[in-house]
Formats: sequence, structure tokens, C-alpha cells
Amino acid sequence: MLPSKSALEKLGTGGVPMLSVQPKGKQKGCAGCNRKIKDRYLLKALDKYWHEDCLKCACCDCRLGEVGSTLYTKANLILCRRDYLRLFGTTGNCAACSKLIPAFEMVMRARDNVYHLDCFACQLCNQRFCVGDKFFLKNNMILCQMDYEEGQLNGSFESQVQ
Ligand SMILES: [Zn+2]
Ligand SMILES: [Zn+2]
Ligand SMILES: [Zn+2]
Ligand SMILES: [Zn+2]
Repeated sequence: MLPSKSALEKLGTGGVPMLSVQPKGKQKGCAGCNRKIKDRYLLKALDKYWHEDCLKCACCDCRLGEVGSTLYTKANLILCRRDYLRLFGTTGNCAACSKLIPAFEMVMRARDNVYHLDCFACQLCNQRFCVGDKFFLKNNMILCQMDYEEGQLNGSFESQVQ
């Protein structure tokens, strides 16, 4: 079996930036209410223009331009960060400790499994891995190269069904 490479990543999609801009040239139509924007400032997000009042969270109705400079989208919904996290905010369970991993937390990914950074260690000798380090996934256990090779030699993996 070839060693897997560990990858550090951030799960969950990042936010979409919003810009507060002064209208130039032709009046823009608002993507929310379809009326022309005559305000001094308008918001530009998702390649569209919005009244500051019209770019609202689909969940809590807060004005997104006031709560931050990013919005979050999922399934055609525009959401504030808080609601996005509340609705879609879990990444899955850590394959080592089975606890939930919140979105936006850095995780280690190995094949289909995700791990808390703290949980990503050889499950026999507790050696931690750095990004790019080689590790082995055997019977869903993370192993360092030494423990993996030792296990191979002793044949201790043979009896277990993968
Ligand atoms: Zn509008
Ligand atoms: Zn909200
Ligand atoms: Zn964990
Ligand atoms: Zn080890």
C-alpha cells in the first residue's frame, strides 16, 4: 500500500466579498427589488448590485452590509455568517474521536476521513504528522511509517478485514 499524504485544509466554503461602491455611470438595477439604485452607495456582491437595504440574510433579515464584508451563499440562499454556520456549519465527525468538527475549523483530511488537528496522530505511538508527511491508513487507523511497517512484518494486520 502506498502512503497517503496528509493535507491540511479548511472545510466549508469561504464567504463572498461585498463591496460598498459609489455608483458610476448608468444607474444600476438592484438584484433584490429590481428598482434602480439612487443611493449614494450601493453594494456589489455576486456580480450584482444591491441597495444596502436589499442585501439581507434570508434567515434573520439582518442587513449584510452592516454585519460584515462577507456574505455566504448556499442553495440559492444568501446568508450571514452566523446563520450559514448554524445551518450548514458542520463538517462531519472526526474519524478519531467521533466528535463533530465545526465548519471553518482547520482539519486534516485523509481520504474520506477528516480529523481535528489534535487528533491527527499515529494511533499507536501518538506521533503527530506535519502537512505533507507520509502516513498510512490501515483498517481506518492512522499509522506512522514505522508502526505500519512493523505491523506488516508481524502480520498483525492480516487477520483484520479492511
Ligand atoms: Zn433594492
Ligand atoms: Zn442571518
Ligand atoms: Zn477529533
Ligand atoms: Zn506510530
